[in-house]
Amino acid sequence: VAPFARPEMQAPARAAQPNAALSTLTAKNISAWFGDHKVLEQVSLTMPAGQVTALIGPSGCGKSTFLRILNRMHELVPSASLAGEVLLDGDDIYDRRKKLQDARKHIGMVFQKPNPFPAMSIYDNVVAGLKLTGVKASRDTKDELVERSLTSAGLWKEVKGRLRAPGGGLSGGQQQRLCIARSLAIKPKVLLMDEPCSALDPTSTRVIEETMAELQKEVTIVIVTHNMQQAQRVSQQCAFFLASQGTPGQIVEHGDTDAMFHDPQDERTADYVNGRF
Ligand code: ADP
Ligand code: MG
Repeated sequence: VAPFARPEMQAPARAAQPNAALSTLTAKNISAWFGDHKVLEQVSLTMPAGQVTALIGPSGCGKSTFLRILNRMHELVPSASLAGEVLLDGDDIYDRRKKLQDARKHIGMVFQKPNPFPAMSIYDNVVAGLKLTGVKASRDTKDELVERSLTSAGLWKEVKGRLRAPGGGLSGGQQQRLCIARSLAIKPKVLLMDEPCSALDPTSTRVIEETMAELQKEVTIVIVTHNMQQAQRVSQQCAFFLASQGTPGQIVEHGDTDAMFHDPQDERTADYVNGRF
């Protein structure tokens, strides 16, 4: 691939063969509120093992809310409430007998804006991923974990000679891959990514997409994106969310990505994926 080729000109960055041995995440009849404002209505979606599922749809239709529900971040907002179930390989992550940390250590999250701890070293940024879930590790284990996580995030070769340098000194794209490595430190079963490339330039975006194609061999991925070309390049499954005046966010259509883009079943999906919104 030419170094400055336009990403939309490139072939799919998807793994050819999804790894069925990985975990499946299932959302059942999810409704969500902020106070009296209902933002999601009866959303059900299976995010299959070893696949990348892309969540698409206009701003404000509840994609981020849905993503946060998938790792119990929604409940951190005091006004938030929720109905429905989220099952990780059949286990209810909202099971009251489970500690929040236990549920969350299987599900990592990466945000739109790269948010490493800027003054902390690259090494410590990765290790910091463990602290969120209370996992303790020895020095040797940490060294191994840092190398493994940075390798999976596609950053190891670039930073192995300067692990003690501050995370804030990396480029934007590298910082985002550092955040991916931090999320991978806990060996999550599912990685949630909320518009991970929208703050990045096209070249960094391409590197992240290539990283995702490798990453999906070891972790099931759910990504929110506003970039329709990206959704087609990286995902096998796609869900189109829509909300309108007075109607909370719902999934209008979901299924195989290629089918949804080339033969959408709902007129609203066709309008959206063809940019007629
Ligand atoms: P999207 O990610 O698709 O743009 P969001 O999930 O961010 O949509 O938002 C869905 C709806 O929920 C919007 O109406 C938004 O204003 C509202 N919302 C999101 N977060 C909060 C919050 N913390 N408090 C109150 N309302 C919120
Ligand atoms: Mg959002």
